[in-house]
Amino acid sequence: MTERVVVVGGGTAGTVLVNNLAEEFRPEIDRGDVEVVLVNDSPEHVYKPTWLYVPFGEKTPADAKRPLDELVDRRVALRIDRVTGVDTDSKRVTFESDRDPLGYDHLVLAMGAQVTPEETPGLAEGGHHFYGPEATEELRQELAEFTEGHLVMSVVGVPHMCPVAPLEFPLIADSWFRDRGLREDVDITYTYPINRAHGIRSVAEWAGPLMADRDIDVETFFNPTRVDPDEQVVHTVEGRELDYDLLVTIPPHDGSDVVREAGLGDDGWVDVDPTTLEAANAEDVYALGDVADLPTSKAGSAAHYAATSLADRLASVVRGQRPTAEYDGKTVCFIESGEDEATYIAFDYDEEPVPKVPSKLVHWSKLGYNQSYWLTARGVL
Ligand SMILES: Cc1cc2nc3c(=O)[nH]c(=O)nc-3n(C[C@H](O)[C@H](O)[C@H](O)COP(=O)(O)OP(=O)(O)OC[C@H]3O[C@@H](n4cnc5c(N)ncnc54)[C@H](O)[C@@H]3O)c2cc1C
Repeated sequence: MTERVVVVGGGTAGTVLVNNLAEEFRPEIDRGDVEVVLVNDSPEHVYKPTWLYVPFGEKTPADAKRPLDELVDRRVALRIDRVTGVDTDSKRVTFESDRDPLGYDHLVLAMGAQVTPEETPGLAEGGHHFYGPEATEELRQELAEFTEGHLVMSVVGVPHMCPVAPLEFPLIADSWFRDRGLREDVDITYTYPINRAHGIRSVAEWAGPLMADRDIDVETFFNPTRVDPDEQVVHTVEGRELDYDLLVTIPPHDGSDVVREAGLGDDGWVDVDPTTLEAANAEDVYALGDVADLPTSKAGSAAHYAATSLADRLASVVRGQRPTAEYDGKTVCFIESGEDEATYIAFDYDEEPVPKVPSKLVHWSKLGYNQSYWLTARGVL
C-alpha cells in the first residue's frame, strides 16, 4: 500500500515541506511506497516579501512570482486545484474542479492567510495597502503622485503577515520622500493598536526612538472601526479621528473557510500543538505557516523552519518510528529601516529578539536573501 501525504498550499510552507519530503523519501517514492501530493490553487508560487518594494518602484508584482512546477521536486505530484473541503473522518479532501475527492494518510494544511479590507467599513474604498499584487501596484501609482500632505500608515489587522512590514513601510517612505526633496511637505504618522509601536516589546523599544528621530509621529492605542473616504478621516474604537491625505493600512486578515468548516479552528486558523504542529481536533492532520494558530509571527522564516521540522517528524511517523523533531518557534526577520540600512531580529517561543543597530550590510543581506529565496523554496538552502 502506498502511504499518501497530501499538502494543501504551495506557498513558502508547503513548497519547502514537499521538497524536504521528496529528499527524505527519495527511495520510498521511487519504489511506490510513499506518495507526496501538493495541491495549490494557482500554477504560480508567490514570494510575498517582494510586495514591500513595489510602491517604491524597486520591484514589480511579476518579480514575486515563479512557476510552481519549476520549484517543486519532480518526485512530488503537483495538482493545480482549489481544495474546498476536508473530511477528517473519511480522511479525504474535495476540490473545486470536478475531480474525485483525494484520500490521505497524512494531511498538512499550509493555505496561508488572506487579507480582508472589506471587514472594516470604508477601508477598501479609502485606504491602500501593499499586501497583494494589484494593491501594491496601485499604491505605487498613488505614491508616485503624492507630493504633499499627510501619509498615515495604520495597522488595522492583528495578527497579520510579517511582523515588521508595518514598521518598514514608513521608514522606507521617510527616506524615499527625503531623496525626492519632498519630506518637508509630507507628514508621516504610524498607528498601532496597543500601547506601544509594536507587539514585541523589544522591537517597540527599538522602533519608537527611531521613528521619533525620523520625524514620524506614532499614535498608539489606535484601533480603526471605520474609514470615511469622502472626508478622508479614520475613526477609532477609542473615539479618535485622524485626517489623512493618503491612507496605507495593514488590513484585517483571515484564515481559511476550509479550516472553519472542517472544525479545525473556529476563526479560520488551525488549532495546533505549537511544537508538533499536529491539529488539536483531528488525527493525522498538521498545519504550518500562516494558517496555523501558532504563538509566533506569521512570517516566511517561521514557515520555513516549521516545514523542515515537520518533514523530519513526518518521516519518522511514516516509517513507524517515534517522532522526536519539534518546532521551537524559530523566526528570523530582516527589518528595513530606511536610508539603505536594515537590522534583523531572531527569536523563538522562549526568547525575545534584540534588534541591533541598523547597517548597510544587513540591508544588502536582505536584498541578497530575497534573490536566494528561490533556492530556499527548492530546498537547496
Ligand atoms: C508585504 C509582505 C512582506 C513580507 N515580508 C516578510 C519578510 O520580510 N520576512 C518573512 O519572514 N515574512 C514576510 N512576509 C510573510 C510571508 O510572506 C508569509 O508569512 C509566508 O508567505 C507564509 O507562507 P505560507 O506558505 O504559510 O502561506 P502563503 O505563502 O500565503 O502560501 C499559501 C498558498 O496556499 C494557496 N491556497 C490557499 N488556499 C488554498 C486552497 N483552498 N486550496 C489550494 N491552495 C490554496 C495559496 O494560493 C498560496 O499559494 C511578508 C508578507 C507580506 C504580505
